[in-house]
Amino acid sequence: HCQLRQGAAERRAETHPLTWRLREDGAVLGLDEYVEKDGYAAVREVLTHQSPDDVVATMKEANVRGRGGAGFSAGMKWSLTMKGPGIPRGYLVCNADEMEPGTFKDRLLLEQQPHLLIEGMILGAYANHSYYGYIFLRGEYVEAARAITRALEEAREAGWLGHDIAGSGFDFDIALHTGAGRYICGEETALINSLEGQRANPRAKPPFPGQSGAWGKPTVVNNVETLCNAPSVMRHGAKWYQALSGELSDDGGTKLYGISGKVERPGLWELPIGIPGRELLERAGGLRDGRALKTWLPGGGSTGFLLPEHLDKPLDFDTIGELGSRLGTGLLTVVNEDQSVLALVRNLEQFFARESCGWCTPCRDGLPWVVKLLQALERGEGRRGDLEMLDKLADDLGPGKTFCAHAPGAAMPLASALRYFRDEFERGVAPPARAAQADPMPVGG
Ligand code: NAD
Repeated sequence: HCQLRQGAAERRAETHPLTWRLREDGAVLGLDEYVEKDGYAAVREVLTHQSPDDVVATMKEANVRGRGGAGFSAGMKWSLTMKGPGIPRGYLVCNADEMEPGTFKDRLLLEQQPHLLIEGMILGAYANHSYYGYIFLRGEYVEAARAITRALEEAREAGWLGHDIAGSGFDFDIALHTGAGRYICGEETALINSLEGQRANPRAKPPFPGQSGAWGKPTVVNNVETLCNAPSVMRHGAKWYQALSGELSDDGGTKLYGISGKVERPGLWELPIGIPGRELLERAGGLRDGRALKTWLPGGGSTGFLLPEHLDKPLDFDTIGELGSRLGTGLLTVVNEDQSVLALVRNLEQFFARESCGWCTPCRDGLPWVVKLLQALERGEGRRGDLEMLDKLADDLGPGKTFCAHAPGAAMPLASALRYFRDEFERGVAPPARAAQADPMPVGG
């Protein structure tokens, strides 16, 4: 599904800052072509004419919200990093551990335009006084690893990385680190532990990584797409960037949106942030075989289900949050009228249960419990009280009750499915005679 559906004729520098340079054949954009198309111009200009504080201020004003899924202001994050005289220079880490179910946006940038990411990282490192960068890449992204490795060599040879970048006196280099394929490594503090060679358990926050991260030094962790926005923000200014989304949203810029599921043409599009879900569905050619839309996840498996009536709402962080879900990664998963939400939720919860690091009890024990209850309901062998137990588990796994966002993420599709599609779950409760014979303790193990 990692295919950009917009052709070169539609993509323009003024409106598609993330993708306008991409080649039609999907090949990697090499250094020469990247530089020809205004590449590294932002780095040259910023490092020689602007201060790190200027960069932070511009990113803040542009309202670039974190594209990893949480939507935290990138400029705010950069302003909160510990930096200055007497504070050791730390790290800038690109979170490229893209593993959210239904999400394949960063992969496009990593495989086809690694220099845009490198340029964004140089700007981020400059703003945050970082002396070294890491790209923490999902292990399965082997093509991306190849493209990044080559791009890092090219950038180093051309003097965009290393000592005294563009004659500015600023030193910075980047290493590629490939993960071993665990979802929890995408959680920023687990990622930092993994980078240090420790077991990938999340750390308590605060302290946030910006205060104490990798090897105890100030560390900024940003998503690929977030960093890829920095060059155009710095090249064209905050007002220009804000105008890309215009009236649609207070969030600035464009977003890589996508769709998967039973639609005619799954794929990716770069569109102004805040377009409605309906526009995406139309671009994807609607549902396959003329089926009707039952429900959709707005941004990966750890977001809450929404209904067809929500399709006209802006796909931005605040609006989707107000609907009780979250924008997440902005890649829609579409479910048609024939598909079982119960089966889909069970599948997702199995994934989340398997990927729990096991560090805290609600997550380690609660998620397998959820899976067992859902499996019983799927077989039609659920017991009276199971739905209420699932409600309670969804609450116990929710925000503030676990160490990190893994369990609250898993609770979102569960809680919203129980809310909107309760009848599907109720149908899985066995009639009393059969239920009496069922295992009285379907928990644990
Ligand atoms: P979060 O809201 O806890 O934090 C988001 C970011 O803001 C973090 O970098 C955090 O350090 C920073 N932050 C928050 N408050 C701060 C403060 N007071 N001071 C300084 N920094 C602060 O969310 P999270 O746990 O990092 O991420 C959850 C999101 O991850 C979900 O929305 C989910 O959609 C997404 N996700 C994405 C993928 C993927 O593959 N892209 C995978 C899993 C989850």
